[in-house]
Amino acid sequence: MTAVASDTSAETHAEVASGEVANGNEVRVVRSTKRRKTAEAHLRDGVLEVRIPARFTKAQEREMVAYFRQRFERRQSTDQLDLPERAARLARTYDLPHPASIRWVSNQAQRWGSCTPTRGSIRLSDRMAGFPDWVVDYVIVHELAHFVELGHTTRFWELVNRYALAERARGFLIAKAWEEREPFAGQPLPSEPRER
Ligand SMILES: [Zn+2]
Repeated sequence: MTAVASDTSAETHAEVASGEVANGNEVRVVRSTKRRKTAEAHLRDGVLEVRIPARFTKAQEREMVAYFRQRFERRQSTDQLDLPERAARLARTYDLPHPASIRWVSNQAQRWGSCTPTRGSIRLSDRMAGFPDWVVDYVIVHELAHFVELGHTTRFWELVNRYALAERARGFLIAKAWEEREPFAGQPLPSEPRER
């Protein structure tokens, strides 16, 4: 399970914790006077610990807990996808090269997928955690097609568009990228949580 966030080491000041159990996931909220703007969450021994600024209202706390819980639950569901098996099946179906390796990564903020054709390796951003399988499949097909065509050429799109839901998946991904820029649209909430 990937941890979200970073600068918790110095947080020893005035912390108040409260706990709850929801949807089978135990949640612990830590309010810290040291923390000014951002909220973070870690999964520790099966408990989702959400750290927020002490000044947050109850409503803001609920919003943050819901946000992080959804992220972690999605990630848990994505962990169950058998990526090598999926990629092999898609390569067979679309007559594309089989990848030597395919895995989730947490350090890809700008792209949904990337590949190194010389190594036959594919990396998928775990921001796609919980996305529908057919969207993840589109990104896999996209990367597999790069093993044949490096650039986004006409030939490349011909290969990719044989995947029947390609256009729909692109629309889904565009919408998700837009959401990520405004995760708390309309709310006077903190800056976007950092991830590593
Ligand atoms: Zn591409």
